Amino acid sequence: MKDFIIVGQGLAGSILAWNLMQEGCSVLIIDHFDATTSSQVAAGVYLPITGRRIVRTWMADELIPCAEDFYSSIGKFFNTDFIHQLSVLEIPDSVKVYNEWQMRKSHADTGKYIARFHAPDSFSELNCPYGAVELKPSGYVDLKELLAHLRSYFVQNGSLKDAVFDFKHLQVSDTIRYGDIESKNIIFCEGIAAQSNPYFRHLPFQPSKGEVLTIHSELLPQDYIINKSVFVLPIGNHYFKAGSTYEWKELNNIPTEAAREKLSRQLKELIRVPFEITGHQASVRPSVKARRPFAGMRSGIPNVGIFNGLGTKGVMLSPYLSRHFVNHLLKKEKLMPEIDIAQYDDLL
Ligand SMILES: Cc1cc2nc3c(=O)[nH]c(=O)nc-3n(C[C@H](O)[C@H](O)[C@H](O)COP(=O)(O)OP(=O)(O)OC[C@H]3O[C@@H](n4cnc5c(N)ncnc54)[C@H](O)[C@@H]3O)c2cc1C
Repeated sequence: MKDFIIVGQGLAGSILAWNLMQEGCSVLIIDHFDATTSSQVAAGVYLPITGRRIVRTWMADELIPCAEDFYSSIGKFFNTDFIHQLSVLEIPDSVKVYNEWQMRKSHADTGKYIARFHAPDSFSELNCPYGAVELKPSGYVDLKELLAHLRSYFVQNGSLKDAVFDFKHLQVSDTIRYGDIESKNIIFCEGIAAQSNPYFRHLPFQPSKGEVLTIHSELLPQDYIINKSVFVLPIGNHYFKAGSTYEWKELNNIPTEAAREKLSRQLKELIRVPFEITGHQASVRPSVKARRPFAGMRSGIPNVGIFNGLGTKGVMLSPYLSRHFVNHLLKKEKLMPEIDIAQYDDLL
């Protein structure tokens, strides 16, 4: 008998499974690998201030140290670096916005994350006539690499079954039965597929499609993540990811010409040096109307749960919130009300 079946080995399922295993639980993950899921396509950026509105990201003070610690230590375990700490260069598009950033330097919640102001046109490779604002701590996590290492580890430990989870094999009573597998609990971490999950499909998801380009440029600086209407993230050897778009109607994993053109136009407005587009991907983020993830066991069915809704910020949210959820599962600590699915009991 397993302690937990986890459905899904994206960022949510992987980190939850890892944390449960660290606590000595026996876990079986059921996941069908798909290279177009959100975690596989994501750029993996984390940053403390949301540039558009210049406000501190929800719980940044708690989430960022926990995330940096988690990805560094899991990197040590696998003897590689998954996390790359890089400052973000915010490029204001007017004097008004630059002045707004300057005002935020003296605010208690944002000030400590604004490391430096750069004078207009400090970077000859970029269009930055109103200067640039340097933020930290920030950076990115190579999610593809992280999830590939974790997948091999789970397979080697007999903790991952590569299969499509099919609800017709699931029996829920005091224990969980899935085919010939028995478990005390099952937790769904299926990303947007949760919208067809009979236990959780009525949760208020608001999925958003995102598209991201890979570009190559010999002359672009590789020591910053640059952010204006589009972000440009150095991933090594003069390659960069550039994105992302937001689309709420056409929810599929198909890259579109319209997004490519839009991103390409935004890049040309930002970058003064030549670049070449070498790749283009699309996926759908498991976002939530209230912009807070979902965690918890279903009311009245205490062995069926969910960890999902990481939206645009899975990298920052998942280490802290999965640890918080594990403490709830194993030590009965109370879930924070913002993420507790109990608030949606009347929808489920
Ligand atoms: C273009 C783009 C850019 C992004 N950029 C960033 C960024 O810079 N920073 C950031 O923090 N976040 C970013 N995100 C968001 C990030 O990807 C998500 O927050 C996070 O990865 C979601 O992880 P998840 O595990 O919940 O879902 P998923 O990654 O979708 O994982 C779900 C897993 O469940 C599996 N699954 C589902 N149903 C079944 C089934 N029936 N049987 C078997 N397996 C199943 C899937 O195959 C998949 O492996 C971005 C997303 C996109 C699309």
